[in-house]
Amino acid sequence: MFALDVAGSPAFLEPDAVVVHPDGSWTVVEIKSFPMLDGSADPAKVGAAARQAAVYVLALEQVAARLDPAPAVRHRVLLVCPKDFSNLPTASAVDVRKQRAVTARQLARLTRIEDIADALPEGTCFSPRLPADELTAAVESVPATYAPECLAACELAFHCRDRSRAEGAVTSLGRSVRAELGALTTVSDVLAAARGERGDPADPAVAALRRAARLRAEALETAATRRAPQGLDAALEADGAGAGQPGATDGTAGTWGGPHR
Ligand code: SF4
Repeated sequence: MFALDVAGSPAFLEPDAVVVHPDGSWTVVEIKSFPMLDGSADPAKVGAAARQAAVYVLALEQVAARLDPAPAVRHRVLLVCPKDFSNLPTASAVDVRKQRAVTARQLARLTRIEDIADALPEGTCFSPRLPADELTAAVESVPATYAPECLAACELAFHCRDRSRAEGAVTSLGRSVRAELGALTTVSDVLAAARGERGDPADPAVAALRRAARLRAEALETAATRRAPQGLDAALEADGAGAGQPGATDGTAGTWGGPHR
C-alpha cells in the first residue's frame, strides 16, 4: 500500500501487483474479472481499468522519486483478465500515458485542503457530535455547487439540493443546463432575461431564451384561437337544441317533439 498526495492530503492505494523488471523499472498489474474474448475486452471496462491503473502509476512515481537511484515507472500496465469465460488468466499491455497525463492535470488543479480550510470562518468545526443547528451552520459556511449528479455520489446531496432550490440556482437543473445559460445563474435571472427585462441581447443565451419565449407565446396564441371557434360552435349547437323544446339536449329531440296522438 502506498500514498498519493491528493490536494495536500494522502490517499492510500493498493495496486493488485507490481512487477519489478531486471533493469529495476516497475510495471503496475491490474487484475479484472471481465473476460477477454479472442484477445479483446469491453472498451468501456478497459478504459476504466486504464484510468485506475494510471492513478497507481502516479502514486508509484511519487514513491520512486523518494528512492536513490529512482527506478523508472513504466507507462504500459499489464491488464490481467479471464480468457474467454474460462478460469485461465490472460494478459494484455495497456498504454496509460494519456490517462496518466489527464489525472496528473486534474490533481494539479485541485484546490488544496489547506486553502479550503483557510477560507472557513474561524472556529468552524464539522464534528458529528455538535448540535444539529451548529453543524448545519458549519456546513452552510462552505459554498457548494449542487448538481443532480450529487444525488448518486454524496451524502450531503439532499441538504445541498434544498439550499440550491431555495437560492434558485440553475445548477439544480443539471450541469448541462448551467453550461448553456452562461452568466445567468439563477432561475429569476433566466425568466427576467426571457421576458426582456434583463440581460444583454447580444448574449447567445439571452437571445435563445427570448426566441424560446416568443415561440411559446405564439404557440399559446395559436392554440387559443383554434379553441375559440370550437367553443362558439358548441354554444350555437346548444342554443339550437334548446329552441326546439325546453330541456332538450340535442337537435333531434328539439324537432321531434314527442309522439303524435
Ligand atoms: S451534494 Fe456533496 S458534492 Fe454536491 S455540492 Fe453538496 S457537498 Fe458538494
